Amino acid sequence: MKNTYDFSWEDLGDLQMGRPHLGAQMPVVVYRLLEYTFKDVLSQELGLEKTAAIFVKAGHLAGREFCKNLLDCSLALDPFIAALQKTLVTMKMGILRIESADLANLQFTLTLSEDLDCSGLPLYGETVCDYDEGFIAGIFHQYTGLEFQVKEVDCWATGDRTCRFLVEKNTGQVAG
Ligand SMILES: [Zn+2]
Repeated sequence: MKNTYDFSWEDLGDLQMGRPHLGAQMPVVVYRLLEYTFKDVLSQELGLEKTAAIFVKAGHLAGREFCKNLLDCSLALDPFIAALQKTLVTMKMGILRIESADLANLQFTLTLSEDLDCSGLPLYGETVCDYDEGFIAGIFHQYTGLEFQVKEVDCWATGDRTCRFLVEKNTGQVAG
């Protein structure tokens, strides 16, 4: 995964100064409006596959920056995961659970409930959380220095009540 983008956390601006009356919170519907209109327009311009790949890359970049700026990568795995769970709740992004962890092979199954991106969506018959796949891979990358493959296997949009992600160390060629 390409690691050299121009984005930095400072690009998000000073919300206290910039939004003294409206503050840092806004309804989830506004976030989803941005996400799903972007997804529709990009899909029509570039195709669904390319769009999904872009969402994975953007999620990866976001996950790395999220990890760098809001988490402590020097923590051992258990306290790191606990801090990640807490931060995802504080930021109202979702409720993370570790279903299984194979530390020897760096393989994990995670669930994210009440997911910001998809929980409550209509049934599409396919998973939609490409951004989350990248986001989780980006966090694991930032924490370990290794590249990870993340695949969403269950999603609200496939009729499930939680998103379920298979996470494993990428053994193949690192994607650009
Ligand atoms: Zn999902």
